Amino acid sequence: MNTAATLREAFSSGRFCYGAEVVTTRGFVPANQPSKIVELGNALTDDPRITWVSITDNPGGNVMLTPEWLGQLLAKRRAHIVVHLTCKDRNRNALESTAWRLASEGLNNILAMTGDHPKAGFGGLASGSFDLDSVSLIAMLKAMNDGLPVPGRKGEITTLPKTSFYIAGAVSPFKQHERELMPQYFKLLRKITNGAEFIYTQLGYDMRKFHEVQLFLRSHNFNLPLIGNVYLLNKTVAGMFHRNDVPGCVVSDKLLALVEKYAAGPDKGRAFFFELAAKQLAVFKGLGFAGGYLGGMAKAESFFEIINMAEKFGANDWKEFAKEIQFCRDGEFYLFERDEQTGLGDMNQLNREFLRSLDNPGDSKEVTFNYRLSRCFHSAVFTPGTPGFNFMKRIYERWDKGPGVLSRTAHGVEKVSKLIMFDCRDCGDCSLPDIAYLCPHGSCSKNQRNGPCGGSYDGRCELKDKECIWARAYERLKHYKQTKDMLQGPAVFYDANLKNSSGWANTFLGRDHNAKKEK
Ligand code: SF4
Repeated sequence: MNTAATLREAFSSGRFCYGAEVVTTRGFVPANQPSKIVELGNALTDDPRITWVSITDNPGGNVMLTPEWLGQLLAKRRAHIVVHLTCKDRNRNALESTAWRLASEGLNNILAMTGDHPKAGFGGLASGSFDLDSVSLIAMLKAMNDGLPVPGRKGEITTLPKTSFYIAGAVSPFKQHERELMPQYFKLLRKITNGAEFIYTQLGYDMRKFHEVQLFLRSHNFNLPLIGNVYLLNKTVAGMFHRNDVPGCVVSDKLLALVEKYAAGPDKGRAFFFELAAKQLAVFKGLGFAGGYLGGMAKAESFFEIINMAEKFGANDWKEFAKEIQFCRDGEFYLFERDEQTGLGDMNQLNREFLRSLDNPGDSKEVTFNYRLSRCFHSAVFTPGTPGFNFMKRIYERWDKGPGVLSRTAHGVEKVSKLIMFDCRDCGDCSLPDIAYLCPHGSCSKNQRNGPCGGSYDGRCELKDKECIWARAYERLKHYKQTKDMLQGPAVFYDANLKNSSGWANTFLGRDHNAKKEK
């Protein structure tokens, strides 16, 4: 039986909790046959040191057995189970179906993420779904908890039975630049206001950045359970993280040098890596995080050895470890000034240079003529209640009733002009106003309408082929001192009903998500 009745209770018990990551495999596991993964899962869930086991969903964009398969095998055991649910391979209907299955099997703890872009696939690279993103997935799960209103056979609305998901979101703070990090933080707030109840951090090796997430949440009066993410390093993994082979995972030059030094030793650095992980756990405990989440291991004994080590440190040792484990990159941006005493962020002092730049944002290559023009045009014509909007609305209402020649012609003009200006893909449910006139279909590989995924590196997209759309949007909005309003409000859901219809018409006639925002 589980220790605390629910994971929610465990995280609010005040007792520091340890979690373990389990990654499934590509291939099937015959029933009643021994399986290393199931054995690992059993050993972890049966051990009193482990409060929860978290099962990944095709991590790194690689094909694996689904997390819900292992979840249902471990569900009745001692520890709690968190199932990772990502948006890369399943559209919203498949995600909802999976959620109903999880609820039916009593697997109520879900970590909702966008997920890494697919890396492989049968017969060629899989195309990513990204029908939803982490914010809209969280909002959908929350709506299921509230009782999903659905049309009945006779068109009446019935409310489906309420689920009781305990929903987690994730944040990826190991970003080099302000234009990458601030949208991550704003998206974190959006996840919470749309239903996330506890937060996983991305794995990293800079305790000041982990602490900064805590400070950021407190500065917005959010005090929800925070999970610190520790990944056991070795020379190979450190190399991959240093080369940015795994989205969002960062090893700096300084840490890589240390890794190579210890890995050259007789134990290939094992003692150093295990101690580093244990020290990170001790810092999370010292900082008052709800739990520490361990990954990167295939043997249950390794998890236990690190936890035992962490539990043996002195009550205040974590303070020294927090200063010691700050493997950031040169010139990395921090939102809070450094507290010289603790070596961590100073809750009372935001980054002074950042504050100055908010008053004098200066120029940016992102603030193009096209962007300035789009802003003017939008405020004159596409802003509800303006004379321009009311005029265009009357026009489109007339065209909408007509034979369609004029509306088709207008749609043609719209398509060509928006293709040239924004690389528009004619989705019909336009998000240009949401993303500083950058098209999520044309400029983002994951169609992220609710903020950045966690994969950007050095301002570049996870797919390394362009600047990250949200880093660009941040730069644009900062020029107009509008970053504070970034990513506010309910989750944006794309409506595929509108595909290849006129985005202009749908805006003026209140058929797209922008109209829902106004209601
Ligand atoms: S453009 Fe940015 S948000 Fe979009 S996929 Fe790339 S890194 Fe993610």
